Amino acid sequence: MPTPSELSAVQAGWHFDHSYAQLPPSFHSRVHPTPVAEPRLVLLNRPLAQSLGLDPAALCGPDAAACFTGNQMFAGAAPIAQAYAGHQFGNLARLGDGRAILLGEHLTPAGQRLDIQLKGPGRTPYSRGGDGRAALGPMLREYLVSEAMHALGIPTTRSLAVAGTGEPVFREQPLPGAVLTRVAASHIRVGTFEYFAALGDAEALRVLADYTLRRHYPDRAESENPVLGLLEGVMERQASLIAHWMRVGFVHGVMNTDNMALSGETIDYGPCAFLDAYNPATVFSSIDHHGRYAFGQQPRIAAWNLARFAEALLPILHPEPEAALALANEALESFATRFQHHWIAALRAKLGIFTEEPEDADLAEALLRWMHQTRADYTHTFRNLRADQTPAALADAVFSAWHRRWTERLARQPQPWAEVARLMHAHNPAVIPRNHEVEAALAAATTANNIAPLEHLLAALARPYDEAGQPEGLLNPPPPGTPVCRTFCGT
Ligand code: AMP
Ligand code: MG
Repeated sequence: MPTPSELSAVQAGWHFDHSYAQLPPSFHSRVHPTPVAEPRLVLLNRPLAQSLGLDPAALCGPDAAACFTGNQMFAGAAPIAQAYAGHQFGNLARLGDGRAILLGEHLTPAGQRLDIQLKGPGRTPYSRGGDGRAALGPMLREYLVSEAMHALGIPTTRSLAVAGTGEPVFREQPLPGAVLTRVAASHIRVGTFEYFAALGDAEALRVLADYTLRRHYPDRAESENPVLGLLEGVMERQASLIAHWMRVGFVHGVMNTDNMALSGETIDYGPCAFLDAYNPATVFSSIDHHGRYAFGQQPRIAAWNLARFAEALLPILHPEPEAALALANEALESFATRFQHHWIAALRAKLGIFTEEPEDADLAEALLRWMHQTRADYTHTFRNLRADQTPAALADAVFSAWHRRWTERLARQPQPWAEVARLMHAHNPAVIPRNHEVEAALAAATTANNIAPLEHLLAALARPYDEAGQPEGLLNPPPPGTPVCRTFCGT
């Protein structure tokens, strides 16, 4: 007997498989999205659809809109909600997909296995007090920022579509409801391991570790101690990821352990934002009162989350508890070095430095210090560094002294300026999702039903390293008085 989803009218090129759903019952719950009043396609990511082997034209009709809200199912989908836990602002909680439903894994023509998830399709057994719903603004924000991150060359979940529900969601006020279709390497989180560790279920931990190794770290599955290989592999990808975030001035905002994906992708865009003026203490999230997830805290928090991951792995890391602890500690100690390695490499690239000198970190930090003191714009300062800096820029004595030091450093490497400039342009974006521009585009979309500003912004952010033809407003720091300093989760 074919299941209803196998009879779906919307084929579109989907090729679903369900390896996660085949894991033991404690890993997930079978669920059905709760139908909504009026499914309406708001945004479809055509280039992404094409790269997944899907036919964008087949994803535009009313049936597809119904699939994007969960009223209908794409051919072959079999919805589940995943179980997980997580340390939220330091406290462990049992969570799970309270407002997300996994349709399955789409197998792409290129041979990738990618989770297809609806975010906001109604209640699940993990919803606790929540309504399982999402508001249009936050879903458009996740779409915009995740696609911007992808174009910046940073590992991230992607956004295939946003569909309106035609129903309000009630937060502090009624807001238009929407569902985001998220594409991810997987949704396995540090919190997924914590869930089974908290239950004391070593067998489930073993199954999950095996599954994660096969799906994301096949090379490490062959190592002498694969679980240690997994820990080290996850640490390495997180070290690289956080350095990437900091290279472009990204503040995630809620680095809870349930928002740390083992694939190494950036996941769960809530109150995230990009720095304007450089200040490592920058916090955007309205609920982060103590600056736990401030820009400059991100490496430390990543290390803290990875320590929770290592703890969860202890029962399967080694049969002897003391040996397990020693292995975990030794691995965790390597995080600072791993991060520093990626961060200094990013800073060298941002400064056009190809060779290695011990003083390079100090050179970069001196510039960051100056930027902090003068409230210089992070993106604009790096993008506009050049050997023949304008006289106006050099009027600042501190900057001028730093600039001399930098050009002397560049003179000690063989690469000509043209190559230096190319390296810098490839690592210093010209445009980022400026907070004031993001807020304006979201306001137009959510209050005036006008999606055009958002589409313009998306087009600009699709080529962030290229200033040609970009809107003036995006190439420059925000005009005085406009910086956005608070963002909201919208949950
Ligand atoms: P997040 O802040 O999006 O990372 O979510 C943290 C946890 O809260 C996850 O378990 C979510 O599934 C859950 N959650 C967030 N919003 C809702 C909602 N509106 N209804 C039910 N659960 C939610
Ligand atoms: Mg989350």
